[in-house]
Amino acid sequence: MVIDLDRCSGCEACVVACTAENNLPIVGEKQFARAREIKWIRVERYWEGEYPDARVTFLPMLCQQCDQAPCETACPVFATYHNQDGLNTQVYNRCIGTRTCAVYCPYEVRYFNWYSYQWDEPLEQQLNPDVSVREKGVMEKCTFCIQRIRDAKDQAKDRGGDKRVKDGEVTPACVQACPTEAMVFGDFNDPDSAVSKAATDERNYRVLEKLNTTPSVVYLRKAEAHG
Ligand code: SF4
Ligand code: SF4
Repeated sequence: MVIDLDRCSGCEACVVACTAENNLPIVGEKQFARAREIKWIRVERYWEGEYPDARVTFLPMLCQQCDQAPCETACPVFATYHNQDGLNTQVYNRCIGTRTCAVYCPYEVRYFNWYSYQWDEPLEQQLNPDVSVREKGVMEKCTFCIQRIRDAKDQAKDRGGDKRVKDGEVTPACVQACPTEAMVFGDFNDPDSAVSKAATDERNYRVLEKLNTTPSVVYLRKAEAHG
């Protein structure tokens, strides 16, 4: 994924879309106050300067799907592992809730279910049947909308011929909802894909690159001189 911070307006449409697509619970005021909110993507705000010359930058932060993910080495029961698509996946029914992965994740994008949350009627009817509802004691995080990737793969297989998913056939919910088209999704192994081309932009960088986690999310931002 590539995220262009110069396009992001901080509207949080991506956050709402992810919540709806992936059956994220609304934890309520009390749990929120205890930092137990569950949000697979959050929009961080960074301020520069002082009023009236203050500038704000918005940075959507989600699981970076690291190629060398510290959370994978930390889990004692291999509940999180790398799949064949290069995704850092979470096996819910293997997770025993030690929360070690959350401690090891430098991006703080792993969330723990302190309760089995309920959806009041009729909200339970809007749950996405393609996504599991997680229970108490299980860790969760952004999956790059794996259900949409699987669906595209199934459709490509049914098509016959070249069974590969074509560029642009998978759009995660956050990417789909973004009104400024700040996010691009695709396959970095395909040099001709839109995401590979976007990543070559001279403004590119990866968050906390020096940690050698090799994230699969590339950010674009124009560095500006101040003063
Ligand atoms: S890729 Fe999917 S799961 Fe990940 S933040 Fe975006 S909408 Fe949520
Ligand atoms: S939807 Fe797009 S513009 Fe809005 S906060 Fe998310 S990335 Fe930024």
